[in-house]
Amino acid sequence: MGHQQLGFAGMPERLFVCTPSKLGTYADCPRRYRYAYVDRPSPPKGPPWAHNSVGASVHTALRNWYALPSDRRAVAELPMLLKATWVGEGFRDTEQERAAYRRALGWVESYVTGLDPSDEPLGIERVVATKTSVLAFNGRADRIDARPGPSGPEAVIVDYKTGRFEPTADDARGSQALALYAYAAQRTFRRPCHRVELHHLPSGTVAAHEHTEESLSRQMSRAEDTARDIMTAEKAVAAGADPDAEFPVRPGTLCSWCDFRRNCPAGTDRPAKEPWAAMG
Ligand code: SF4
Repeated sequence: MGHQQLGFAGMPERLFVCTPSKLGTYADCPRRYRYAYVDRPSPPKGPPWAHNSVGASVHTALRNWYALPSDRRAVAELPMLLKATWVGEGFRDTEQERAAYRRALGWVESYVTGLDPSDEPLGIERVVATKTSVLAFNGRADRIDARPGPSGPEAVIVDYKTGRFEPTADDARGSQALALYAYAAQRTFRRPCHRVELHHLPSGTVAAHEHTEESLSRQMSRAEDTARDIMTAEKAVAAGADPDAEFPVRPGTLCSWCDFRRNCPAGTDRPAKEPWAAMG
């Protein structure tokens, strides 16, 4: 029976299949989780956000830079790489989009200048996965580096950030997603993985945290608690409970940035943001 628990009537309980964004969505707002993952069809989302376009474009350019043979990983490749997969959605106009492209190009150019092109990470946008008795986790880490540790090679989780706010060491420590990647990377690569890093491209800073086995396990048990809460709510709805009560709204500042704001009774009162509002 492996990792599965026996439920009543001897039937195995199904594991909760999750990604960091699924767990994070529920933790932010259970109603948003329901709109994104439970209701079918899912309510229509608002228009795409310009900041997501910039983030996706930068991530893809860096992934494709690492996909080049190491002797071609030059800064000069970046304008072509960034342009080739640039996402132009959500901007106010062409002028704003061009300014965002130039800014993003500056970030990746200075970031790549600080990298060793001959380094071969363990993974680029690599899926790492693990199971516990409650959940089956999978997530795509931006980059997993191989670095020497005190007792042999270690894996390090690297997450690129392109938002306005510079993350701190507390953000790296508190990030459940980073901890779950590290937890899963240890099992996927069969080597220690305790260090997690947020690489903020606009400022060129790195916010890092060294986890312990205990802190990784703690984050995993929190994820299991969230998974249990979600499964309980989903089962209650399947058994006829009121979905609005099982997946309550959690109004707050996030509502203005929520894709489902227009369809949510709590969100329609919150001030709307233009899709390019985070462009500054
Ligand atoms: S608008 Fe606010 S309350 Fe409604 S789903 Fe989105 S985050 Fe939750």
